[in-house]
Formats: sequence, structure tokens, C-alpha cells
Amino acid sequence: MSDGKKIALVTGSSRGLGRAMALELAHRGYHVAVHYARSAEPAEQLAASINKAGSLATVFKADISQAEACQNLIKTVSKELGNIDVLVNNAGITKDGLALRMRDSDWTSVLDTDLSSAFYLSKAALRGMLANKWGRIINISSVVGIMGNVGQANYVTAKAGLIGLTKALAKEYGGKGITVNAVAPGFIESDMTAQLPEELKSSYLAQIPAGRFGTAEELAKTVAFLASDDASYINGQTITVDGGMVMS
Ligand code: NAP
Repeated sequence: MSDGKKIALVTGSSRGLGRAMALELAHRGYHVAVHYARSAEPAEQLAASINKAGSLATVFKADISQAEACQNLIKTVSKELGNIDVLVNNAGITKDGLALRMRDSDWTSVLDTDLSSAFYLSKAALRGMLANKWGRIINISSVVGIMGNVGQANYVTAKAGLIGLTKALAKEYGGKGITVNAVAPGFIESDMTAQLPEELKSSYLAQIPAGRFGTAEELAKTVAFLASDDASYINGQTITVDGGMVMS
């Protein structure tokens, strides 16, 4: 249990953007459930450094591309720490390719990991949030879910789907003390973006009014704000964190 601290589960927080979110939430006083599928060592190291700094973190493993694993993850976290107050659906993968050449398995695995997981995890976590009459679900989408992208039909569809899921859940549970919002990062420095070819990075940079890529910490602060009571009247929104790349 967590000494009255709010419980925050950040999926895919072993590394990358999720790691920064876990650190920021721990720093702000949440007991963070650090979650991973394969990166056990980085997840354990992160939790150890959070606990050493006097905050609270516990590590959980699950392959969230499977519905049953999502349900079990929420059950295990709730049993060990208590009802989840903040769920950040962050874990995601890419398997890029032009639609005509995209393998069916690459379509399915990205949709399962990046979109369906958010539905299964939210559905399971909502029960505890309803019991607590308070909750925050934050779905990590992407600017490509708003504007589309070449070679990412699977990823774009998943990220656009997360925006739809956000709106549907926000309408269903907005009257119960629960907010559901999406964050759409632009180009943030991370392992995922480090793999992109240099010319693609330059073309993205040319579209960013800020003239630079974002940092994981900048994104994490937006997530932590949406998780807080300060964001209590923000519901069903998609907040772009992209240096002005996409404007509505
Ligand atoms: P990343 O560095 O590749 O990290 C991905 C995380 O997801 C890892 O912790 C990984 O855990 C976890 N994960 C992947 N497949 C999983 C599975 N089947 N089950 C459980 N966990 C799984 O990615 P990132 O750049 O930090 O991106 C984080 C999120 O932000 C993603 O949803 C991504 O689409 C979104 N995003 C990123 C950017 C960007 O610029 N980086 C821009 C827009 C949106 P393991 O290592 O343990 O497998």
C-alpha cells in the first residue's frame, strides 16, 4: 500500500518518454507503478533510483499486446498498491512501411500494442476510479494521429484511435470525477525517434516553429499537469506538445 499517496501506472516506463513521466510523477508524490515488457533491468534501476530519492515506485511486468495481460496487470497493481488513480497509456511500438507493403502482422501488432491495450487497461482501471470517485486516464497519442504520415498506416490509425477512445471515455465518465485526455507529442528526443533517418529528422525540424525537438521532461510535465487536480476541468482534449508543429 502507499501511505495515502495516489497510485499512478505508466505503461512502458522502463525507458524513453514513459521513464520521464514516471520520474516526474514520483517527484510530485505519486506511488508510481513502473511497467515494462522486456526491459527488466532499466525498469528495476528506475524504481531503485526513485525509491532511493525518497519517493515510491514498484515494478510490474506485462506484455500489454494481450488483452488478458492488460486485465491481469491492473488486477496485480490494484492488489499490491491499491486502486489506480492515474493511468498513463504510454507504451507503444512502430512497425513502419508503406500500406501496400505492410505485413498484416505489423498492422495487428501495432494496433494491439498501441490502441487495444489502452482500451483493456482503461476498462479494468475504471472500476477502481469509479469506486474512488476520482481518476485520470492520459493516452499518449501522437501528432501523426492528427495529421497522418507516410509509411505509418498502422501507427497513425492507432494514434488517431486513441484520440477517439479519449473522447468516448471522457463523455462516459466525465460526470464521475474522472477525466480522460490525450497528449499528442510531436518530435521528442527518444530511442524511438533516434532510429529515424537524418533527412526525415531535418524535414520534421523545418516544420517546428520552436526550431528544436522536444525533451521527454517537457512532455512529462504536461502529463503530470493533466494528472493533477489543477487539470480537473480539462476533459476529452488532445494536448499537442510539439513546439507548434500542429495547430488547430
Ligand atoms: P520507446 O523508447 O520505444 O519505449 C517504448 C516503451 O513501450 C518501452 O518502455 C517498452 O517496454 C514499452 N512497450 C513496447 N511494447 C510493449 C508491450 N508489448 N508490452 C508492454 N510494454 C511495451 O518509445 P518512446 O519514444 O518513449 O514513446 C513512448 C510513447 O510516446 C509511445 O506510445 C509513442 O508512440 C509515443 N510518441 C513518441 C514520440 C517520440 O517522439 N518519441 C512522438 C509521438 C508519440 P520494454 O522496453 O520493456 O519492451
